[in-house]
Amino acid sequence: MDFELDETAAMVAQTARDFASKEIVPRAAKIDRDGKIPRELLRGLADLGLMGVNVPESLGGSEAGVIAYSLAMIEIARGCASTAVTMSVTNMVAEVIASFGTPEQCKQYVPHLMSGKMAAGSFALSEAEAGSDPGAMRTTARLENGEWTIDGSKQWITSGDFAGVFIVWARTGGEGTRGISAFLVPADAKGLSVGHHEDKMGLRGSSTTSLHFDSVHVPESALLGQLHGGFKIAMMALDGGRIGIASQAIGVAEAALAASIDYAKERKTFGKPIAEHQAIQWMIADGRTELDAARLLTMRAAYLKQSKQPFSTQAAMAKLYASECAGRICDKALQIHGGYGYTKEYDVERHYRDVRVSRIYEGTSEIQRIVIGRSVAS
Ligand SMILES: Cc1cc2nc3c(=O)[nH]c(=O)nc-3n(C[C@H](O)[C@H](O)[C@H](O)COP(=O)(O)OP(=O)(O)OC[C@H]3O[C@@H](n4cnc5c(N)ncnc54)[C@H](O)[C@@H]3O)c2cc1C
Repeated sequence: MDFELDETAAMVAQTARDFASKEIVPRAAKIDRDGKIPRELLRGLADLGLMGVNVPESLGGSEAGVIAYSLAMIEIARGCASTAVTMSVTNMVAEVIASFGTPEQCKQYVPHLMSGKMAAGSFALSEAEAGSDPGAMRTTARLENGEWTIDGSKQWITSGDFAGVFIVWARTGGEGTRGISAFLVPADAKGLSVGHHEDKMGLRGSSTTSLHFDSVHVPESALLGQLHGGFKIAMMALDGGRIGIASQAIGVAEAALAASIDYAKERKTFGKPIAEHQAIQWMIADGRTELDAARLLTMRAAYLKQSKQPFSTQAAMAKLYASECAGRICDKALQIHGGYGYTKEYDVERHYRDVRVSRIYEGTSEIQRIVIGRSVAS
């Protein structure tokens, strides 16, 4: 067993850490306040190869592997969770197109996502009544005269208002998960409109919108992968995406823990820094231990994916544990800050709000337990 990082992964992580410290951390509070990520920040991520860390070089990606991707995600999330989720979904979309797309589909979209010409990619699976259960989706696609016509609505779509390309799942056959196909839809497709922007508790810099498909025509060649094979693509994408979200949660919790340690060393009560009170030290000790455990679980899942071994259960474990412990760590970080932690003067207030969603999206904690339970107890 080797706990050392290879040179490429270490370099990508360092690049992301430097960019986060210099460009993202100083802007994170404003991104949260304004509800918007400056486009030049996303362009900066693309310029550094961070929009396609595990995407082949032949398509403009960095081809640095899954471990490098996870480490980069931790560093960017340490700076700003909203920027990190935009990066995470864009990496996921580019990887899915690179894995399942025809050479023409790859050429049409992936290099533009990698260069930043398209600011983001978007993953349009969920609907108002089909989140945990995508087999209940109602959006349809019909093939007529060599064209697909897509009708329906999607909800909760990250970067829905500025993504350059959407992977859209729609029903092409009967009931359930078997009759679903995936399509590549450009943002300027006629009949595609952006609807409601969610007014969220956290992750406020990341836009989350509904999308409406009103007889959206795309060519027959817009089908991604096999006809009726869309559910499998979604599940495979989410397996990988869960490594990204585990990493995002770890990054946010790392920021909250570091802020707590600094604060605990400065803040004095009863004549000594609160870091010297055992109750505070134990919160920090628990947080550090849990975060290291989350990192190890996430690195294992990343290693398995990178070495092309089955990793679905391990990715679910990483996402479940990392998101749940990150929630506890951000909660304790706020506690360590006392009343000040409950104000916007301190970043832990934002971390507490931002981290909450990691237990919900890309499969709730309950869904992760179902995936793990099926694998280990059936
Ligand atoms: C900020 C944000 C960004 C998002 N971005 C995207 C995106 O880019 N693309 C996209 O497609 N989706 C996105 N989503 C949607 C997200 O993936 C869903 O919200 C999530 O999968 C849960 O679905 P739901 O909200 O419909 O909850 P529901 O599925 O209705 O679940 C409600 C509750 O019931 C529980 N539950 C459901 N089924 C079971 C079961 N079988 N056993 C036990 N408990 C169960 C759930 O765990 C949850 O606690 C985003 C969501 C948010 C909040």
